[in-house]
Amino acid sequence: MPNPVDIAIIGSGPAGMAAALYAGRAGKETVIIEKAYPGGQAFTTYMIENYPGIKKIGGPDFTQSLSEQALSFGTKMITNEVISVDLQTNPKEISFADGSTLEAKAIILAMGAVAKKLDVPGEEKFTGMGVSYCATCDGAFFKERHIVVVGGGDSALEEALFLTRFAAKVTVLHRRNEFRAAQVLQDRVRNHPKIEIKTPFISKEVVGERKISALKVQNVETGAEELISCDGVFVYVGFTPMTQLALGQVEMDKNYIVANDATMETSIPGVYAAGDLRVKKLRQIVTAVADGALAATSADHWLESKE
Ligand code: NAP
Repeated sequence: MPNPVDIAIIGSGPAGMAAALYAGRAGKETVIIEKAYPGGQAFTTYMIENYPGIKKIGGPDFTQSLSEQALSFGTKMITNEVISVDLQTNPKEISFADGSTLEAKAIILAMGAVAKKLDVPGEEKFTGMGVSYCATCDGAFFKERHIVVVGGGDSALEEALFLTRFAAKVTVLHRRNEFRAAQVLQDRVRNHPKIEIKTPFISKEVVGERKISALKVQNVETGAEELISCDGVFVYVGFTPMTQLALGQVEMDKNYIVANDATMETSIPGVYAAGDLRVKKLRQIVTAVADGALAATSADHWLESKE
């Protein structure tokens, strides 16, 4: 087996890319591993307008630039799916779906999080045929249609606003009367002529024969059910951390990895966590890149202290 690399980063969203940049600039032999496309959730975000120093930038443009910058300092990109990682051994061993393996002295876990489902009848049947978790990807299929966006956080309101570019009408359906999204987004949504807000309602079923005809919803206060006629349902009800690879190995809290806020070190020395998969107060691109920078710097210091 070839010599272990210094640092392996699993996941290429903003946290992983920032770690790659800092590890590369520190002169460490580093690889960043991604199973699909680089950029994570940021890639599928239509517009980013709260990254300090950049007034407005599209998600794909942002992640492209992040990736080019990160890889320009020597970090190597590996496109492959990690099926297991042994974090207890030294060096750590990563196994890939194609049967190959890789050893690394330090590991940065940056696998991010994936969209949660509603878990109601009809959701699976119509996924990709009217039910979507990505407005940037699928919004254009709903020109002059009626879309229901489910959720009350930043993602739901931001993407509802984006969908007004295509749809004739967007209904935002939320289970409480208060939204947890930033006030600026709430104000924009409330003042948008194409958006209707419907609270407090939960989704019960995506209804349709060959295509979606309605979303069956229930009023949380009265229990009354009704059908909202619509052509598409966009689901933004939060995210699940992608931490299966590390389950049972590092300390977690509700499946989020516990890491030291100052160093990003997990319960295992030489293993770091960065971005949306760790326990933290604010999940944003700006905090993800900060995590990545800290994780790479800590990994560098840890490796130096051992040599
Ligand atoms: P989130 O903040 O966790 O919000 C999830 C929303 O879905 C909440 O309103 C929640 O309702 C609702 N919900 C959860 N489970 C549900 C269910 N089973 N049925 C119906 N509704 C359900 O998720 P997010 O909006 O995707 O944001 C994730 C993180 O990314 C947050 O930290 C957010 O600030 C950040 N983010 C930031 C930006 C930005 O800064 N521009 C953009 C996107 C995301 P309750 O409120 O009742 O719990």
